[in-house]
Amino acid sequence: MGVKKVLGRRAHCAMQTIRNTKRGIMAKSAKSVTLPRALPRKTTKEIYARLAAADPEPQTELNYTNAYTLLVAVVLSAQATDKGVNKATKDLFAVADNPQAMLDLGEDKVRDYVKTIGLYRTKAKNVILLSERLLACFDGRVPNDRKDLESLAGVGRKTANVVMNVVFGMPTMAVDTHIFRVANRTRMAPGRNPLEVEKGLVKNLPDEYAQHAHHWLILHGRYTCLARKPRCWLCSIADLCAYKDKTPAPDEA
Ligand code: SF4
Repeated sequence: MGVKKVLGRRAHCAMQTIRNTKRGIMAKSAKSVTLPRALPRKTTKEIYARLAAADPEPQTELNYTNAYTLLVAVVLSAQATDKGVNKATKDLFAVADNPQAMLDLGEDKVRDYVKTIGLYRTKAKNVILLSERLLACFDGRVPNDRKDLESLAGVGRKTANVVMNVVFGMPTMAVDTHIFRVANRTRMAPGRNPLEVEKGLVKNLPDEYAQHAHHWLILHGRYTCLARKPRCWLCSIADLCAYKDKTPAPDEA
């Protein structure tokens, strides 16, 4: 490959990263609603301590075999259940668990493998595009830098946070719908949007819980602090949570 072609490719990689960074800056939200005060730091710490005692080594419920398959699984999981994604990726990852194999498979076949997942056409396209970029710009490896990750097709801040945390052990907080709800109800980190909640949680995140905090909160939201009817009567942090309308036990209702 000639020098000119290599330089051209690198310039393209750099420009894509800058474009995505600008998009992130422009996406800042309006701040018109007054937020309630966050829980004291020591209360938040006690919440993590209890969640940690109940589940010391929480894991993502998405199946993956390496950094690349985790990245693809998270991209596919937007607005889909982990269970649904795992069902589709079982066969997909058996034939393509790296960027080159995914490109060799091609977009049409990737689409067939993931057609049971919502938005599968766009997601299949993104899986091919991100695989191309990993090969062109990162030697086929998943980068550990936020800007680099967010320069990949289909990868936003939340996906980058999951990869940085699960693959590279960084203390990031990937705020999904569950964490957003738990953080606001408990008042661990009141926020009008995921970025505000993320910043609030990270600000009060004790070092000793940084690695697993996002999994504890996701699992708490998924199995206890349910969206429609939180199961407050069996919640291990009910006495610390600031939510006013706690659900009574079924026999008290
Ligand atoms: S007490 Fe209820 S609202 Fe508060 S965290 Fe537990 S389940 Fe959620």
